[in-house]
Amino acid sequence: MSGTIDDKTLKCIRCGFCLSACPTFRLTGNEADSPRGRIYIMKSVLDGEIPIDDGVLQHLDSCLGCRACETACPSGVEYGSLIEQFRTKIEESGIRPTSQSFARKQMINVMTSPSAMKLAVTGASVMTKLTGKVGELPQFAADLITGTPGTHVKMPSIPSDLVSSKLKTFYPAEGERRYRVGILAGCVMRVMFNATNLATIRVLQKNGCDVVIPESAGCCGALHLHSGFENEAKERAKALLHSLNNSDFDAFIVNSAGCGSTLKEYGDLFAEDPGYRDIAMKLASKVKDVSEFLMEIGISVPEGRFNETVAYHDACHLAHGQRITSEPRRLLASIDGLKLVELPESDTCCGSAGTYSLFQPEMAVRLQQRKIDFIETTGANVVATGNPGCLAWIEQGCKERGLNVRIMHPIDILDQAYNG
Ligand code: SF4
Ligand code: SF4
Repeated sequence: MSGTIDDKTLKCIRCGFCLSACPTFRLTGNEADSPRGRIYIMKSVLDGEIPIDDGVLQHLDSCLGCRACETACPSGVEYGSLIEQFRTKIEESGIRPTSQSFARKQMINVMTSPSAMKLAVTGASVMTKLTGKVGELPQFAADLITGTPGTHVKMPSIPSDLVSSKLKTFYPAEGERRYRVGILAGCVMRVMFNATNLATIRVLQKNGCDVVIPESAGCCGALHLHSGFENEAKERAKALLHSLNNSDFDAFIVNSAGCGSTLKEYGDLFAEDPGYRDIAMKLASKVKDVSEFLMEIGISVPEGRFNETVAYHDACHLAHGQRITSEPRRLLASIDGLKLVELPESDTCCGSAGTYSLFQPEMAVRLQQRKIDFIETTGANVVATGNPGCLAWIEQGCKERGLNVRIMHPIDILDQAYNG
C-alpha cells in the first residue's frame, strides 16, 4: 500500500475531531478505543516503546474499520489503510494464538468461496428452521474465533429469497445501447444476494447497458484485507485482475459497498508491485458503486410505484470508504410513492463490519441494537442499504425484535418500481 504506516500515523495531530464520530469510543468512552488512541498505540508499537501485547490486541481488534474517523479527520489521516496494514503486522507478530488465527482465516475462506458458503448457508438455514431460533455459530467455532470460551456468536440473517440460478455471462441492453459495463458478481453477494445481482443486471439493462458478468470475477479480497490477511487478499485480487485484464468496459459496477471500496483502492494495494500496479490502477479507475453509476448516467424514471416508507442506512464503506451518501438517497427519492425518512445516526456502523459481528460479538450486538432502536423511531417499514453485511445483520436484529420491517438493497427497490 502507498505510504508507510509511520507516515500515516505522523499525519495525526491529535486534535480529537474524530472522537465523537467513532462508534466504539461512543460506547466505551475509553481513549484507547478511539481513533486517536488507537493511532497513538500503533505509533508507540512502531517506535518500539511498547510491544504488541494483549492490550494492544484488544483495542485494535475492537476497531470496526468503519472509517467514520477518516471522514471526520481534518488532517487527512488514512485510517482505513493504516488499520489494515497494522492488522497484518499483528497477525505476523504471532501474538494471537495460532488456533484462533487459523480459525479466523478459515472462516473468511468459507465466506469467500461460493461453493463452501452455499453449504454453510444451507446448513445454517436448516438449523434455524428446525430449532426456530436465531442462528448461532456452533460453540466450538465461537470459542475458537473469539478466543473467549462460552461466547455466543449470533449469525447474520439468511435471506428467505435465496436465488441460486446461475448468472449468464452477457445480458444485452434494452433499447439503444449507451454503455458496456461489467459487474462483480462477488462471493457473498453471489450466494446470499444473488437476487440483488439479478436486479442490478435488470436495472442496468433497462438503462441502456450491455452487461457482462465475468464468470471468474468472484472474491475481491476485501474480507481478508480488513482482517489482517494481506497476502491472501492479494492472491484473490490478482486472480480478479487476471480475469478482467482484457475486458473492455466503460465501468465496472459493484453493488457491495465493502467490495467497491477495496476495488477502488487496488492501486494502493499494489503500489509497490510493478507487475500489477498498472492493471490495478486501470481497474480501480473504472469501478463504480451501482448507485453512483446510475446517478451519473441518469436513469429512466420508473413507471411503477413503491408505496412504502423507507429509511436509508449508510453502509460504512459507501459513506466513509467511498464518500457516497447522496446518490442512493437521490435514487430512492426518484421513485413514485416512496417516502424517504431520515434515520438518526444513519452513517454510524451497525456492527456488521465484515467479520466484526463474528469476531467481536458483544460490541457488534450493542451497535446492532442501537441501530434497531433508531429504526423503530422512524416508523419506516423498509430499511434500504447497499452492503451485504449490513443487509443481513440489520435484518437479523429486526427479526429478533419482531419488527415488521423489510431490509432491501436500493437496487431491489428500484427494480421493483421498474416492474410496476
Ligand atoms: S481527527 Fe485526525 S488528526 Fe485529529 S485526532 Fe483524529 S485522526 Fe488525529
Ligand atoms: S474505523 Fe471506526 S471504530 Fe475504528 S477508530 Fe475509526 S471510527 Fe473508530
